[in-house]
Amino acid sequence: MENQANGQKKSRVAKLVVRRDLCIGAASCVAVAPSTFELDAENKAVLRRKQAPPTSDETKREELEDQAIDDDTLMLAAQSCPTQAIYLYDDEGNQLYP
Ligand code: SF4
Repeated sequence: MENQANGQKKSRVAKLVVRRDLCIGAASCVAVAPSTFELDAENKAVLRRKQAPPTSDETKREELEDQAIDDDTLMLAAQSCPTQAIYLYDDEGNQLYP
């Protein structure tokens, strides 16, 4: 992947997406990062935002309700997902995970 050439230190999570078509409601992400992930009425993971209703759609880091959550926790949450439904991107749009 090209983002590896940029060096790991610059790989900061800037954007998150939950692929609802892949999410099976296992809630592993919620267990790892309950301040950021929750399940909606359809048992799909959504991102908790500070000034808008939760969404699975593309969400910028600065829109998250929990501004203190760190990269490691976001990455752990994504890695915990059994269907790899959580996509993480850096600020240049490079896919960090999966
Ligand atoms: S861990 Fe994955 S499958 Fe489970 S709720 Fe979160 S996004 Fe959905």
